[in-house]
Amino acid sequence: MTNFVKPGSEADGSRRDPKLAIRRPNPEASQVPGDPLVLPPGIDGSTFKKFTAAVADITGSDNVTVISSAEQLHKQDYLDPSKAHDMYHILGKGYFVSSAVVAPRDVSEVQAIVRLCNEFEIPLWPFSVGRNVGYGGAAPRVPGSIGLDMGRHMNKILKVDVEGAYALVEPGVTFSDLHQYLVDNNLRDKLWVDVPDLGGGSVLGNTIERGVGYTPYGDHFMMHCGMEVILPDGTLVRTGMGALPNPDADPNAPPHEQEPNSTWQLFNYGFGPYNDGIFSQSSLGIVVKMGVWLMVNPGGYQSYLITIPKDEDLHQAVEIIRPLRTSMVLQNVPTLRHILLDAAVMGDRASYTSSKKPLNDEELDEIAKKLNLGRWNFYGALYGPEPIRQVMWEVVKKSFSAIPGAKFYFPEDMPDNVVLQTRDLTLQGIPTTTELKWVNWLPNGAHLFFSPIAKVTGPDATAQYEVTRRRCEEAGFDFIGTFVVGMREMHHIVCLVFDRSDPASCRRAHWLISTLIDDAAKKGWGEYRTHLALMDQIAGTYNFNGNAQMRLNEAIKDALDPKGILAPGKNGIWPRRYDKEAFTVPPSEL
Ligand code: ADP
Repeated sequence: MTNFVKPGSEADGSRRDPKLAIRRPNPEASQVPGDPLVLPPGIDGSTFKKFTAAVADITGSDNVTVISSAEQLHKQDYLDPSKAHDMYHILGKGYFVSSAVVAPRDVSEVQAIVRLCNEFEIPLWPFSVGRNVGYGGAAPRVPGSIGLDMGRHMNKILKVDVEGAYALVEPGVTFSDLHQYLVDNNLRDKLWVDVPDLGGGSVLGNTIERGVGYTPYGDHFMMHCGMEVILPDGTLVRTGMGALPNPDADPNAPPHEQEPNSTWQLFNYGFGPYNDGIFSQSSLGIVVKMGVWLMVNPGGYQSYLITIPKDEDLHQAVEIIRPLRTSMVLQNVPTLRHILLDAAVMGDRASYTSSKKPLNDEELDEIAKKLNLGRWNFYGALYGPEPIRQVMWEVVKKSFSAIPGAKFYFPEDMPDNVVLQTRDLTLQGIPTTTELKWVNWLPNGAHLFFSPIAKVTGPDATAQYEVTRRRCEEAGFDFIGTFVVGMREMHHIVCLVFDRSDPASCRRAHWLISTLIDDAAKKGWGEYRTHLALMDQIAGTYNFNGNAQMRLNEAIKDALDPKGILAPGKNGIWPRRYDKEAFTVPPSEL
């Protein structure tokens, strides 16, 4: 057994004192007029009113919105996202919902709000833009938490340093904003920003959630450098080289306004333990500034598509990809996409079939033929001056030519292929929202992501494809997915599209993802990120040596956040004061 467990911890069966245990509010209780739809757990209506009055004194009342009526949960569009609930809900709109949304105007207000939450013992859920769709959006894990809208006012690009090739951003800066800044300042010929499939999310939120993009800088967390964080007690910390004061800074200015050390965005690690990791997928801090490395314009670019004809070619394709990627002949984060992901960007399900059953192999072949695509489609790019690209392309082409029937295209060969045209932009850091379209595969389309990590091997990829496709079909859904190739692994992203207006469809989607999590764990596969409803289940699968990692996480949580006010339950980590059983998400049956 590890020896960092405190007395009174769960290891000796008493981590939670029942007298303190915070429980979920009774969802059956009728709402008192003026109260929010859901009060924070353990807080009555009059205390809540005192809290919102006190918070309005900090931020101004314009920046406090109490969520007191169902009409406030009407938003359902990525382009105009809800700040209070999960738009892609599987358990009903009102399940994961905030009691109020507060938008601080600066760092000192964030600190004051955090201190107030400690005083009132009210949970706080920070988000940057709320476009974390498929994982819960802006919604909190604990119903009735205060949503902290970090992006509404704190949305400045604080610095772009061309020589050092980095930016320093606030939470509300989106990928589109940062790209547009480069365009507006004539910097695109010098610097690129790596973007995910959709450009509307925040650079900071996506990075700390460990999201990915598709240029050589696709691993966003790897490419961040330096954070400014507010701890659960309100303390402001700069990580890495930011902990070393700038000798020219004004010592009388508030810490968040002091000029940082000039190497803060140049060297990640500073001195001593590397802290940034504990603020990623974390409930230990609110990140208020973050540095991000920008890619130097490589001086030449060419995207391409390789169509891979047969379903069973997946095995060989992945075996070809591995050595090319580990040796960096594949320079970026390429993707191997199932035919239906591309098909769904190009049309909804009804435009391909009237069948109610999941599409079978013959039907999938027909769709591939109609779209002039393969059953799998590989999107990559070459970076650098023309002679370098030429040599790289020869190697890539020769390697993939081992697959009978593989075909090679550049964007100019397929001007009407909207996916290839979009990937051409994405892989050079130009943000779009085109990939939103696949969510409309079904009417009232919403999605969950099931995202296990796979080895870059033929056997692992085919085994994951087999299990996930079979389970999708068992639940009555089509398999839609893509393998996103990292440095040494693949994020296998399965897009579980369901009809959010149909309770049966929501139920089947929920059953499907929780069944897949169990299937995957039995095979030693784990997910890299998940929706609010599945956080406890996935955390429970990372249970090596008697849940040693969770006990470490809980020990840190209790030490930094003794009242458990910051994002309780995030990624399955519950503060000591919470009765986590009371927050268990009920399972769904098929
Ligand atoms: P996006 O920027 O893609 O719209 P969100 O703003 O929805 O993403 O953030 C996704 C998740 O990341 C949030 O639910 C929260 O857990 C975490 N997060 C986002 N911004 C912050 C922040 N500034 N500080 C701490 N956690 C954050």
